[in-house]
Amino acid sequence: MIADISIPDCSKLFIGGEWVTPDQQKSYSNENPARREPINEVAIAGAADVDRAVQVARAALDSKEWAGMPAADRGRLLWRVGQTLRERAADLAALESLDTGKPFVEALYGDIPHAAGAFEYFGGWSNKISGEVLPVPPRFFDYTRREPVGVVGAVIPWNFPLQMAAMKIAPALAMGNSIILKPAEQTPLTAFALAGILEELGLPAGVVSVLPGFGQTGAAIVAHADVDKITFTGSTAVGKQIMRGAADTLKRVSLELGGKSPNIVFEDADIKRAVRGVTTGIYYNQGQMCTAGSRVLVHESVHDAFMEAFLAEASKIRPGDPMAKETRMGALVSEEQFERVSQYVEIGRKEGANVALGGGPGDGDGYFYKPTVFTDVRPEQRIAQEEIFGPVVATTTFADEEEALAIANGVTYGLASGIWTNNLSRAHRVAQGLKAGTVWVNTYNALWNEAPFGGYKQSGHGREGGRYGAELYTEIKNVCIYI
Ligand code: NAP
Ligand code: MG
Repeated sequence: MIADISIPDCSKLFIGGEWVTPDQQKSYSNENPARREPINEVAIAGAADVDRAVQVARAALDSKEWAGMPAADRGRLLWRVGQTLRERAADLAALESLDTGKPFVEALYGDIPHAAGAFEYFGGWSNKISGEVLPVPPRFFDYTRREPVGVVGAVIPWNFPLQMAAMKIAPALAMGNSIILKPAEQTPLTAFALAGILEELGLPAGVVSVLPGFGQTGAAIVAHADVDKITFTGSTAVGKQIMRGAADTLKRVSLELGGKSPNIVFEDADIKRAVRGVTTGIYYNQGQMCTAGSRVLVHESVHDAFMEAFLAEASKIRPGDPMAKETRMGALVSEEQFERVSQYVEIGRKEGANVALGGGPGDGDGYFYKPTVFTDVRPEQRIAQEEIFGPVVATTTFADEEEALAIANGVTYGLASGIWTNNLSRAHRVAQGLKAGTVWVNTYNALWNEAPFGGYKQSGHGREGGRYGAELYTEIKNVCIYI
């Protein structure tokens, strides 16, 4: 199967519309996590490469080709990127599956269409976000302009590589910025494929650069004095480093960080539906989702019935070959991630939680881990407080709405949440009480390009998606004229 996949050449950097050799000529080996086999060698961009990319990004901002392009034309270009991603969905999904270990089917029907949709959606905003005329005293004419922020640095994680790249590049370009993308070290393939598509479609040189590498490459982009904004998706720990790194030059920063999202099952829920939602809520993408419903709170009166059905559903999921059509769970992305998940499961055991399902590696040579369910978890335990980022769920009971909200909000994160109830008033009441950027009711992980997405508390700053996601890449200028 791997022999059939055309792997992009990752030995060069994409800067100024050209494929260039990295200054230090260093590279690393990229791994297929489902087989623990090398895929290819990937260039490492250093500080000199970052500097070069920033210079061409700055020049592009003032160029006739980019600054002079009508907003509607930018939109048409982005639409064509979306269409091309759709035409090549099978190839891109194969690359994504190979690089991340996720099921090919999920990449084909999830990641790739979502990435394509981001280009189409934000392309539409390119000529629809505008300033306004303000009702100031009559001797003045006062209006606002929405201008590009400038050179944007984008640093992304490995769990949805193309989708994350699209969620940064599409709105940034729609609003007329230039952007430098640093893909995660584990998953560079689709970033290179995307750069190839942008080149093919004639995006002006320098508007997008792709600089692979490790954290140091990201840190060099964050530190560079001529980068105006950083858009980051990743862990809360690195998010904090980025905020500190951006402080010296007072860059604009938007951060999509980690989560420990509660999925709350009330006694009046449709249990069958809740079981399905809770199962995909935690196990989709091997649980490596920032929105993973990694805490399940069940009302004490339906706990036993719910758990019986949930365990039956979860035990049907067997990690296996990501490329096989029937596979619903693939491999974790890396050895590091496998170790992290294994360690957290040990921590849970030592803390006295009960392993009701899984709790160990899956079969095969890759980084497979079985769907794991902890029961009788106390809210203060580490497995109920810290982000594991794997197929591990902590379940707990509650007696009433007040207690459910106290447990749900009792973590440092506030990214997403789920409510399962057939009581309309309760749904709205609990939605109001939850400290989270997204509340899903009787559904989970329903993510749209049209809807704002981001975190409360230590889950981040700013909202991607929707009009908010486009505005994130604009600076507001006020013009006041004495008439
Ligand atoms: P990560 O370790 O924070 O890395 C994210 C990116 O930051 C990678 O490209 C990484 O490069 C780079 N990086 C590392 N150190 C850096 C530094 N000092 N300065 C600048 N860049 C640096 O996160 P991850 O392990 O890839 O992804 C998992 C995390 O992402 C989870 O916590 C998850 O919740 C979060 N996430 C959040 C969202 C959301 O939208 N809220 C979505 C997806 C994932 P290297 O790869 O080379 O280390
Ligand atoms: Mg990889």
